[in-house]
Amino acid sequence: MITCSEAMRQLWEYLDGIVDEVDREAIDEHLARCRRCCGELEFARELRGFLASAGEEEIPGQVMDRLNATLEELDSR
Ligand SMILES: [Zn+2]
Repeated sequence: MITCSEAMRQLWEYLDGIVDEVDREAIDEHLARCRRCCGELEFARELRGFLASAGEEEIPGQVMDRLNATLEELDSR
């Protein structure tokens, strides 16, 4: 099974539907078992929706902070 860090790295591609089928299945499997990543998936979905409507340059600082903090935390595990 892939790690949280691996799942998160591919989360955006997963949401965009551009991951390989093998990767998608691995992420699906991970998300089904990992509550923590499930929460991040919801967050990423919200953020993605926000980006789609507002444009990348208007991301609120706190949103970027949370995203960066999440990635850093995952990387350090
Ligand atoms: Zn996870």
